[in-house]
Amino acid sequence: MILIDGKKAAAELREELKQEVLQLKAKHNKVPGLTVILIGDMAPSQIYVRNKEKSANEVGLKSEVIKYPEAVEEKTVLDKIEELNKDENISGILVQLPLPKHIDKQKVIETILPEKDVDGFHPMNVGNLSSGYESSVPCTPLGCYLMIKKIEPNLSGKKAVMIGRSNLNGKPMAQLLLKENCTVTITHSKTKDLKAECLEADIIVAAVGIPELVKADWVKKDAIVIDVGINKTEKGIVGDVAFDEVSKVAKALTPVPGGVGPMTIACLLKNTIECFKRSQK
Ligand code: NAP
Repeated sequence: MILIDGKKAAAELREELKQEVLQLKAKHNKVPGLTVILIGDMAPSQIYVRNKEKSANEVGLKSEVIKYPEAVEEKTVLDKIEELNKDENISGILVQLPLPKHIDKQKVIETILPEKDVDGFHPMNVGNLSSGYESSVPCTPLGCYLMIKKIEPNLSGKKAVMIGRSNLNGKPMAQLLLKENCTVTITHSKTKDLKAECLEADIIVAAVGIPELVKADWVKKDAIVIDVGINKTEKGIVGDVAFDEVSKVAKALTPVPGGVGPMTIACLLKNTIECFKRSQK
């Protein structure tokens, strides 16, 4: 079984991006800039943002974090986004989710210029992805996609099953695999026989949020299994896949932690660089 090492894959990607930033700097005399807006003091968001900033600096991006207290008015945030939209030194804008209840998430997402939407959540980017046009792609599915392609460069004709249909994971993941000519099934909480669907799959991407939902007898021999889930349990953080038993049947499997997570942040940096390159065209 191939243990897909997300930390190693992310480190390799960051190294490639670092070289690319050096080349861009030589060509354009400036580097891509990423601004992250962080609202409130939720511990996981603080940790994600700190990691994003550290990784951005490591590859040579210009990065900035703008912090607001939990009670900040929606208008203050929207005005700041408008200001960043106009700033030529900023290639990418990310507003860390979740947001406080009084702030309209969709309004925030739609205020970010699609060209600077490094999360790939703007409806314009969602539409471009599903139409097969150039766009920012949400970072977690992009990371999963890159890891799958490393294991199996030719995905044409493979049967892929997404577990979960969120805008963040399942839907964009399905689009990426469809573009690779996979036959894609998207499952969700109302799917009648999830085990039977999974047993058909050459590739399973689990993004559900249920600890160890996917068991060994759901997985076809030699399937590639990508575990997006992050679940806090009594025995620590576990994924949506029962790692120990599935590792005995799968061809390749991501661990949790150390699989999809590190690639997500590296893909945010990749998206920032792609936004910069498109803005220079
Ligand atoms: P979400 O928005 O809550 O979506 C969960 C999806 O799972 C929904 O589509 C839901 O179906 C489906 N589902 C729920 N119960 C199911 C069941 N019994 N059988 C089949 N499908 C079921 O979650 P998300 O934001 O996509 O996140 C999913 C997991 O990934 C979470 O554990 C999250 O923490 C983790 N995550 C990890 C990363 C990373 O970087 N590694 C990034 C983002 C998220 P319905 O649509 O019918 O409700």
